[in-house]
Amino acid sequence: MLNNQGRPTQPGEAQAYTPRTFTSNRALQMEEALIFEIGRPDTSGVDIEDAGEFKPRLGGMERNGEIGLPGLSEPEAMRHYVRLSQKNYSIDAGLYPLGSCTMKHNPRLNEKMARLPGFADVHPMQPQSTVQGAIAVIESVAHWLMELTGTRAVAMSPKAGAHGEACGMMAIKAAIKAKGEAATRRVVLVPDSAHGTNPATAALIGFTVKAIPVGPSGQVRVEDVRPLLGPDIAAIMLTNPNTCGLFEPQIVEIAKAVHEAGAYFYCDGANFNAIVGKARPGDLGVDAMHINLHKTFSTPHGGGGPGAGPVVLSDRLAPFAPVPFVRRDGDALRLVEDEEGTQAFGRMTAFHGQMGMFVRALSYMLSHGSDGLRQASEDAVLSANYIRACLSDLMSLPFGNRPCMHEVLFDDEWLKGTGVTTLDFAKAMIDEGYHPMTMYFPLVVHGAMLIEPTESESKASLDLFIATLRDLAFSAKRGDTARFSGAPYLAPRRRLDETRAARNPVLRWTKPEAVLKAAE
Ligand SMILES: *Cc1c(COP(=O)(O)O)cnc(C)c1O
Repeated sequence: MLNNQGRPTQPGEAQAYTPRTFTSNRALQMEEALIFEIGRPDTSGVDIEDAGEFKPRLGGMERNGEIGLPGLSEPEAMRHYVRLSQKNYSIDAGLYPLGSCTMKHNPRLNEKMARLPGFADVHPMQPQSTVQGAIAVIESVAHWLMELTGTRAVAMSPKAGAHGEACGMMAIKAAIKAKGEAATRRVVLVPDSAHGTNPATAALIGFTVKAIPVGPSGQVRVEDVRPLLGPDIAAIMLTNPNTCGLFEPQIVEIAKAVHEAGAYFYCDGANFNAIVGKARPGDLGVDAMHINLHKTFSTPHGGGGPGAGPVVLSDRLAPFAPVPFVRRDGDALRLVEDEEGTQAFGRMTAFHGQMGMFVRALSYMLSHGSDGLRQASEDAVLSANYIRACLSDLMSLPFGNRPCMHEVLFDDEWLKGTGVTTLDFAKAMIDEGYHPMTMYFPLVVHGAMLIEPTESESKASLDLFIATLRDLAFSAKRGDTARFSGAPYLAPRRRLDETRAARNPVLRWTKPEAVLKAAE
């Protein structure tokens, strides 16, 4: 007998019964329609007096039909958005093992700091003399980032990791142009294991992408890079620690070879959380590296932002950094906004970057101190290795059972013959109340499962997660395929046709025929 999770019913456990509710609610999980479906144009949450007679001054541009916006009472509007917000899984709700994303706790102190009126209410068009404190925050974050990476320049304005990649590659392009090599250096080397944004960025900036094969140990070997180097190579884009969760041991040799060939070294710094306070990318030969403040420095992410992706730059690229940048004039700080007289390649954003993220990141840095930042990295690496050690007897590791950095990568070799796929396994995690790990990335590993616990989790939390994955793994190996094939059973939505959703997204609500007919 299977219970409604597809598991054999234990003695004493209730028999299989899937309740159907009249409301479609599942206990406290509320169904919620779209706001257009619940709102009515003639309803309003406020009681506004009729505007009376007035003469439109839009010169014939007046709307000639109803705007048709949904109107709701205040409690209806409140419930709508609260219910939607409760459908989101978040780091505030539970462990979020999404590898490569560093879903760490966002300390509430940071939020408190970001809401101080002196930071929250400044306007980017204010005279600089009135926002010296805000500029000092930008300068302080810049100082910490340069110190932690061993570099002497940083572009603060990029608004995400991918935006930072674009910034770094534009600085590289400007440097190549300044050397008169724009016509010849047009190829960027990117390993097979790279995050999709790396080749996409290189292509967007106008380079041609050439793949570097990843070696059998999941790392990039200098002997695989050397033959590809030549006068046509503009840069290499490497991630370190890489997307397999491993430190690149030949990074210094690779950087040296790249520089000898006259090219630049872009490092994807999304995995910086593994090495803060332990290794400085500048010392390893990196010319440009973005830092996802929303990963490593605990500013919130998910749900589309805002993030922040400052880019640290080597001395070779510093002259080409975009405006604005902070300069000290006597006692005053000044944001240099004008490219004239500099070799700045231009600018990345209208204003100065994500001010709220800078405040949060600085709050995180100052409250941890340099020793605390190092400890966070050490704990993140320890947590990932604890998970590896506790699961490696059941789940297979593509590059052998050896220490990883802050994330651990399993493949699907261990699921062979069970009828359960990586996708099924991830969906069954949802029934257990966990956000799935990153799946099928990096692409070089079959059925990849990339788990990043971060330093935020207690041992008890890690132990429960490990015990859950072990329980699922035993189920898969025992042949309890029902637990997986239809999962998630308990989520508000079951399995979606993700391919169709991606290929033919329906982003516009259209009034159902019946409503249109009734209105006629
Ligand atoms: C997150 C990530 C990026 C992109 O960063 P965004 O801030 O999401 O734009 C790039 N590379 C790697 C390895 C990442 O994990």
